[in-house]
Amino acid sequence: MKVAAYIRVSTDEQANEGFSIEAQKRNIIEWTIKHNYEIYDFYIDDGYSGKNLNRPKIKKLLLDIKDNKFDIVLVYCLDRLTRDIVDLWTLIDNFKHYKIEFLSVTDQTTTSTAGDRLNLNIKGIFAQYERERIGERVAVAMEQRAKEGWYTGRVPLGYNYDSNTKMYSINEDEAKIVKRIFQMHIDGYGSNKICKKLNLEGLRNKRGNEFAENSINYMLTHAWYYSGYFLYHPKNKEPIYLKANNIEPIFTIEEFKKIKKYTNERKKFPKKIGNNNYIFKNKLYCSSCHKRLTTLSTFNKKRNNYILYYKCHRTVQGRCNNKGINQTLMENFFINYLNKYFNNIYEVKIKINLKQIDEIDKEIIKLKENIEKINNRKKKLHYMILDDFISKADYKEILINLENDLKEINIKIKERENKKSELVNLNKLTEFKIITKSIIDIWCSLLPLEKKEFINKFIKYIEVDKENGIKQIEFYQ
Ligand SMILES: [Zn+2]
Repeated sequence: MKVAAYIRVSTDEQANEGFSIEAQKRNIIEWTIKHNYEIYDFYIDDGYSGKNLNRPKIKKLLLDIKDNKFDIVLVYCLDRLTRDIVDLWTLIDNFKHYKIEFLSVTDQTTTSTAGDRLNLNIKGIFAQYERERIGERVAVAMEQRAKEGWYTGRVPLGYNYDSNTKMYSINEDEAKIVKRIFQMHIDGYGSNKICKKLNLEGLRNKRGNEFAENSINYMLTHAWYYSGYFLYHPKNKEPIYLKANNIEPIFTIEEFKKIKKYTNERKKFPKKIGNNNYIFKNKLYCSSCHKRLTTLSTFNKKRNNYILYYKCHRTVQGRCNNKGINQTLMENFFINYLNKYFNNIYEVKIKINLKQIDEIDKEIIKLKENIEKINNRKKKLHYMILDDFISKADYKEILINLENDLKEINIKIKERENKKSELVNLNKLTEFKIITKSIIDIWCSLLPLEKKEFINKFIKYIEVDKENGIKQIEFYQ
């Protein structure tokens, strides 16, 4: 079996997008060796985005497909091929037509069965969605770079960044603020106080805004780069601390560990849980009394974390029997419900619909032009009878014909307008379903705030109880 390996990396996104050509190549070669395939050729689009198919090597690959030069198209990751779901389908259909198999190293996808195609579609939607909103968090090259000691996060307060050398060097003025923040913390100030004090003095953060309590808190607990280390999260593994060779430390590691220890001691009593962690807040309603559920939390000492739950107000008063639902259970209810609700909705018609809408618009314009023409004729007709050019009988007949034409055109316009709004609504619905489905697929990797954002945007009302789960969901549409 001969493999055509397609590799793509976009210009300015190399660090973010994270897939260097070398990393993709290496992974592809490893994979082909493991599966005993032979590489026919590499098709490398260096510096092209996946938004469209305007790339020289993908074009060449599509030409070579016709000449039977290989049996398999292999990519490192699906989004290397394309980030557009409609392009994806075009490509897959093309491969299928020439009996070429399509494989992706990381997605473990083949296109041979209907189930696989479905799977592929989800991944494609995911990739597209990611491009638009979430952005890639973990990538091979990032891992590679991290292991080599390259910190790649955003530039923290206290540093200047040189994009050529990729070095984070100390910005003395900002470093003074960093040192003060840590000193105040050691002196017993909480993040809230530190924040207020800095803002009162007119000091500003890296982006020139006022300091926020959260970011101060983050600095005091997570900002390992100040000691020249960084925390790296490999996929599905425990995070590890790595020494950064591109960050000048502001504190020595010993100094920093002391600060950390101090932080940990103060952390014995955990802070109250923030509202953003209640992802279903204001959306849940009791299935018995239809009252909105309130949010509660208890601290679990064993697990050292909070358990969040939602409870009917009247249960506390003994007037309702529905028990509280903890958030994890609620999330399970939610995902199961949506999975059932959105079964088999993968048809992607948006682009086709948009074309149709465009055509309908053109038709409507033409029809309206015709109306104008007829109105002009009516005017002329009017003058003709005034000047006695035509008989009254003729005038009447022509006028009736013109009026009939007008009626007909107006009916046609109405029809087209109806069809158009139908298509527009269909688009909205399809779009909504695609987004929702792709969200469900990545649910467990989302942050609470992202989950909450999604729920706030799309969910109006959920009726639920602990025994029977979700009774009803209303969507915003
Ligand atoms: Zn109730």
